[in-house]
Amino acid sequence: MKAEIIAVGSELLTPDRTDTNSLYLTQELNRLGIEVVRKTIVGDDRQLLAEAFRDALNRVPLIISSGGLGPTEDDLTRETVAELLGRKLVRDDAIVRAIEARFRSFGRTMPEINVRQAMVPEGAEALDNPRGTAPGLWIEDGERMVALLPGPPRELKPMFREQILPRLERRVSNVRMFARELRVAGMGESHVEQIVAPIYKRYGEVTTTILAAPGEVQLHLRMWTADAEAAERTLGEASEALEMALGERIFTKKGEPLEEVVARLLTMNGATIAAAESCTGGLVAQRLTSVAGSSTYFLGGVVCYSNELKSAWADVPAEMIQTKGAVSAEVAAALAEGIRRRAGSTFGLGITGIAGPSGGTEEKPVGTVHIALASAGGIKERALRFPGDREMIRWQASQTALDMVRVHYLYGGAAKSAGKEPGRG
Ligand code: AMP
Ligand code: MG
Repeated sequence: MKAEIIAVGSELLTPDRTDTNSLYLTQELNRLGIEVVRKTIVGDDRQLLAEAFRDALNRVPLIISSGGLGPTEDDLTRETVAELLGRKLVRDDAIVRAIEARFRSFGRTMPEINVRQAMVPEGAEALDNPRGTAPGLWIEDGERMVALLPGPPRELKPMFREQILPRLERRVSNVRMFARELRVAGMGESHVEQIVAPIYKRYGEVTTTILAAPGEVQLHLRMWTADAEAAERTLGEASEALEMALGERIFTKKGEPLEEVVARLLTMNGATIAAAESCTGGLVAQRLTSVAGSSTYFLGGVVCYSNELKSAWADVPAEMIQTKGAVSAEVAAALAEGIRRRAGSTFGLGITGIAGPSGGTEEKPVGTVHIALASAGGIKERALRFPGDREMIRWQASQTALDMVRVHYLYGGAAKSAGKEPGRG
């Protein structure tokens, strides 16, 4: 089944508020096998609202709206939909009493305008709302279904779960969405696209979307079908073919962020890590500590921006900074080794670079970053040139640093976890 979502509210068209209800609704509808084919955000305007509902009613059998059920003049959803469906609004005294009781429970009397919320289109079912005054509405019109839900997420979500979900469950076919997600590190979007396009073209029934984030490309495979076995088989084959082509560049098949993959590898191997960061300003430490249980592998880190503190906190020789420059392979390696020795960790990460927008030179332009990973086996160093603005450069640097730890386990000391396909899980 196909559905559309209409988010009503002029505040959603300002820079201050965003429509989050539709994300929740889409997730819940997808779970039922209902595909959301369009979302509309519309202000509190009678004509625009009528257009939005009229168009949607002509396209799909199910519309879910949020917002515009309040008691004030600008709340127009109820009237608009009633008018479009040619239904009179009838006052429901049970709702009036419920709203009155709600006000009484706060020691107040119901303002007259709240009676508007008790107006129900003929033949519609009112959905009670224990968390607010606005009841929701469920309207069936021939084959079409319209659910009008209140805007506040804390009212909408339970109303959807408790009152809409059971109604939909009775009606939907067992077509549902099956999905896989692979994430790739260290490759650009077009490079990935080039490799995977011939593969996903072989699987016509699978919808593939490629999402690029800095330092990461996500491949989403989706298939809508009632045949779970066929979906698992087809998606399995498609994702295996992609794995064959992309190999170790795939860091997860579960949609996890890179720091979680690295956290698992470190934990599995009983390893610890510390970081000395210059241009990333603690971003690597932040990402590594955002994972629950990080104290088992993350010992600590320093943000050493000035030359003096690179020497004082990570033992980088002042003379090296003088001769090679603060942004150099040598200094990255010294940072990595220095912090590893100071922390007594299995790994030390050293990062130094030019995040811009100023500070670049011809020899070392903005985006130049040196990253080193020190371990008992020696130091690996990478010299990179990242595109983008300051934030993107810093993020890509953190991504590459984390990926160096992952790759270390692919080739390096991964003996302990060889059977578990390190970095692929
Ligand atoms: P309403 O039912 O239009 O009176 O909405 C009341 C409040 O709910 C708004 O002021 C917002 O704070 C919130 N709200 C409305 N629509 C949405 C939405 N689509 N996503 C998230 N919050 C919303
Ligand atoms: Mg509103």
